[in-house]
Amino acid sequence: MNHDILLIIIFSVFAVLILSLIIFLMMKKSLLRKKLANCIFPEKWKIFLFKNFAIYQYLPKDIKEKLHKKISFFIHEKNFEGCGGLKIDVLHKIIIAANACLPIVNSENDLYPYLQTIILYPGVYKNNNLTAASENVLSESEHVVAGESFSAGTIVLAWDVCLNDSQNLNTASNVIIHEFTHQLDAENGPTDGIPAIFNRAKLNEWEQIFREEFANFRLKSFHKYDVIDQYGSVNAAEFYAVCSEAFFDMPLLLEKQHPQIYNVFQKFYNLDPASWFRN
Ligand SMILES: [Zn+2]
Repeated sequence: MNHDILLIIIFSVFAVLILSLIIFLMMKKSLLRKKLANCIFPEKWKIFLFKNFAIYQYLPKDIKEKLHKKISFFIHEKNFEGCGGLKIDVLHKIIIAANACLPIVNSENDLYPYLQTIILYPGVYKNNNLTAASENVLSESEHVVAGESFSAGTIVLAWDVCLNDSQNLNTASNVIIHEFTHQLDAENGPTDGIPAIFNRAKLNEWEQIFREEFANFRLKSFHKYDVIDQYGSVNAAEFYAVCSEAFFDMPLLLEKQHPQIYNVFQKFYNLDPASWFRN
């Protein structure tokens, strides 16, 4: 047999096998979601949420129901790994899933499609970063952190910080929302403070408002007390992440202090959290 024809046959068989595997996995996921969507969300889980997810009691009924479904999907589809002696149980999974799914509860986002694994430490942990100190020389620095997001499909979090943030509102601090916002940011390529917005007019509006607000924030031409954490001045990606924390944790104040940011976030997330606290 001609060598080229043999190569084409091998390649075709391989392509068909890969395609079949992708279709099989998609069908499996779709069937599992259908099954889970018909299950009743356990009362015990609602009690966990009521006690440990402070915003839960303010959510409108329809949003709560959508969140229950997404939490179930998330828990079944993502891997959880405990580190530093932490043993993962259902409470860990529910609290992480609830906070992670809140930003996407009313959007088309398919449950952070590039994210596979959530690694949990009991508390803050040390990370090692290699940075270029000079040409051909790498310097290693060590930091204590509460969370990190990697575009390769992993999020690392400190559980005690996660739980504290989840249990308390009005701090404008939520490490889970922060790190998952970085995942949303990375879904369309670079982590640059611009998440995937497919409508051209909405994208233009986001870019214009975000650029202006970020520049003002860096120049410190903002309120004496600002609901947006100072860490946001590091770069546009961090600015987007801390604005998202404020959007869900202190929406009324964000709306008052930064109405334009609130407005574009409201359109992007398709949610109006300030109204949950007014009602
Ligand atoms: Zn960050």
